Amino acid sequence: MMRGRFAPSPTGYMHLGNVWTAFLAWLLVRQMGGQLVLRIEDIDEARSHAEYKRAICRDLRWLGLTWDEGPEVGGAYAPYTQQERYAHYQDAVERLAGKGLLYPCFCTRARLMGVGAPHAGETAVYDGHCYRMHEKERAAASAVRTPSWRVHVPAEKIAFADMVCGTQEVDLARAVGDFRVRRADGLYAYPLAVSVDDMEMGITHVVRGRDLLAQTPAQIWLIQTLGGTPPAYAHIPMLVDADGNRLSKRQKGLTVRELRAAGKKPEAILSALAVAGGLIPERGGRSLEELVRSCDWYGLRPTDISISSILSHL
Ligand code: GLU
Repeated sequence: MMRGRFAPSPTGYMHLGNVWTAFLAWLLVRQMGGQLVLRIEDIDEARSHAEYKRAICRDLRWLGLTWDEGPEVGGAYAPYTQQERYAHYQDAVERLAGKGLLYPCFCTRARLMGVGAPHAGETAVYDGHCYRMHEKERAAASAVRTPSWRVHVPAEKIAFADMVCGTQEVDLARAVGDFRVRRADGLYAYPLAVSVDDMEMGITHVVRGRDLLAQTPAQIWLIQTLGGTPPAYAHIPMLVDADGNRLSKRQKGLTVRELRAAGKKPEAILSALAVAGGLIPERGGRSLEELVRSCDWYGLRPTDISISSILSHL
């Protein structure tokens, strides 16, 4: 059975960028006769709020993008909210530790930023500083600092065929490096949680933003290492503003609630996205059924989509 998922983080109200991802995840499932899982990714406890989770469900329902399993619906793989799944992540951490793949990392944020990260420590390839530590140094460091936990990845090539971006081949150690599975504050890291969930929930197709393409080899490797079968991936183009920046929660007027308040209709919003993304040829409001019938994935260009081109169709 084909199983897709939409996995939003409840850190703000849904905006057009989230709708675009939800729509394509939903579309692929409906076209392939599969099941759609809605999973709430709230492991970033400080930034996640219950109100946003409720709003995501409300907005998806209003848009007509219904899910077959998840919050408010239930399902065989419950719970579907990451904060309720910590035992699953802990189990995976223990299995990785049992294979001798984990080591404590005492690096400060300042040090990680200096190691060549363009924006945040998380996105840079870690230089293996704490991997090379001796036991004595480790003992001394742990006396003064709670470590995060990293997984040591092998020098292995990971290849996969992305449904939108084409063939990818990445040297895991060089391009991804040792990544964190558990933060110093005890929270689980995104790559671990998402891999465990996709694996345990039997997800066969992941549709998500292209910003996550670079993280995919790590997730494929983690799933394989934990004994699972990695899903197929479709990394879809990002929606960008006039300056080429990703849509953020700060941009005004582009949340579902604002579009709804402005009198926009769900079909019109989804059709505008489909036209701007190249999935259907011309404008004009179409029903959800028509979109499922007529949207063509081959029309999807792997380039960013400007918000203005969407708004011009809305
Ligand atoms: N929760 C992530 C986000 O909202 C998406 C994760 C994924 O689709 O793999 O950006």
